[in-house]
Amino acid sequence: MAINFTSPTRKKNSYLTFVGKAKNKNAKKPLMAIFMTFISLAAIIAVAVNLIISSLILPEELGAYSFTFAPPAVFEILEQNNIQPRLSGMEFNLTSGEVLFNAINNRIDDRSGVNSAIAALQGAVNLRLLQVGQPVIISYVDGISSDTLHSVIIPLRNSNRVTALRQPDGSFKVSETVNLTLTQPTLKQGVVRTSLYQAGLEVGIPANRLAQIFDIFAFSVDFQRDIFAGDELAVIYEELVDTRGNVVGTGNLLAVKLTTRGQPRQAYSFDGDFFDENGESIRRALLLTPVQGGRLTSSFGTRRNPISGFTEHHPALDFAAPMGTPIMSAGDGVVVHRGWDARGYGNYVVVRHNNSYETLYAHMSRFNNLAPVGARVAQGQTIGYIGSTGQSTGPHVHYEIRRNGVRLNPAVAVANMPSGRSLTAGERPVFIEHIHDLAAQLNP
Ligand SMILES: [Zn+2]
Repeated sequence: MAINFTSPTRKKNSYLTFVGKAKNKNAKKPLMAIFMTFISLAAIIAVAVNLIISSLILPEELGAYSFTFAPPAVFEILEQNNIQPRLSGMEFNLTSGEVLFNAINNRIDDRSGVNSAIAALQGAVNLRLLQVGQPVIISYVDGISSDTLHSVIIPLRNSNRVTALRQPDGSFKVSETVNLTLTQPTLKQGVVRTSLYQAGLEVGIPANRLAQIFDIFAFSVDFQRDIFAGDELAVIYEELVDTRGNVVGTGNLLAVKLTTRGQPRQAYSFDGDFFDENGESIRRALLLTPVQGGRLTSSFGTRRNPISGFTEHHPALDFAAPMGTPIMSAGDGVVVHRGWDARGYGNYVVVRHNNSYETLYAHMSRFNNLAPVGARVAQGQTIGYIGSTGQSTGPHVHYEIRRNGVRLNPAVAVANMPSGRSLTAGERPVFIEHIHDLAAQLNP
């Protein structure tokens, strides 16, 4: 049996015109006239549609097809006219305001068949949620005065679809076909010309994966100031692939390597977190206590100023420690300010960690000469030493965390930051084994 797919706008094949039975479906007539005029164009489109539909209807769905279901009257008429029953198909998209029933009923003459197909589909799909542009594929037996709906296929996301297929007793049976998806690691590499984000998009890295990369490196890379043309991004993430080989979605981020001015940073997904190539956690929150053994002496909030006696807002934490104790940078960053403020901070240092976070350390006795303005400092690196300069009653560090210039309660800010965990001794060899192939791809 031949399966003939017509163009979406049909209405009728030429042999029906020959039979001379006009159908009471005038809506498509102007379009038909255009198609008669551009008959060769129509033929090309019909072939294209045929290809599309062929790719969407599985052989097993049509292979078992038999005409026994059809109302005998249709076949009697066809037989009387020496016409072989033919199965035709078409694909169309729902237009604005068009409900599925009307969309099918306007295209073929089988009102009761469309009714029962819709009734059957309603059990499987919320038809009211179908959106404008939703593709619909139907197959039907061409009749003379009427057609016989054979199947309705509604493709859904991820190559899944719902099919209503006419049964021998004339009813419609609905089945859902879920295409299995496989995850397949894919490597994408980009070079920065304007921005890292743009470089990622240009090579096809999905925006949600790029956002994740920004998040992973949020406390080790200043994306506004550390990224330059020529910097490189290499990413391995999972693509979801259906059984026909189509990429239908994005899976997990597996590994990323960001090279800024020749300095590579790597992150590997493992057990729900990200670690560098040595198994150290990549997510580093700022330190809550920037001095070892520091004792909290003043909290964030309203307090009585120990010197002036006035009530004031204290937008920081104070940690007391012996004079000369090293003060550490709370996170990876760049020293952006070292200064003297006689009436307030005394000797103080500001470190910028990323686009939005800065930390300030005040009342130092002296600075660390190895961390001048412009120096890149790592979390835990000494930037100065405990003192009591400026407005201070004793040796301590006044520690502020600023986000976009707003001074936050460090205790709350640190608690809200993503913090990584350390791999156990048992996990470490598993991790090294896990990243072996990924690392080889990122570091060819
Ligand atoms: Zn203070």
